[in-house]
Amino acid sequence: MSALVEMFVEAFETAAAKIPLFCSVCGALVAHVHPPAPPCALICSACREVTP
Ligand SMILES: [Zn+2]
Repeated sequence: MSALVEMFVEAFETAAAKIPLFCSVCGALVAHVHPPAPPCALICSACREVTP
């Protein structure tokens, strides 16, 4: 039963086709969002703390 659920979830997530967002400073993966991706530059929490 769990295998069937996992298959369904995997198929659903693949269909969602989320876009990975990377930090514009260090390049770390920050989040996945549904298209369209936000036009603004993204900065991860670590870089946000360092930069004023
Ligand atoms: Zn960063």
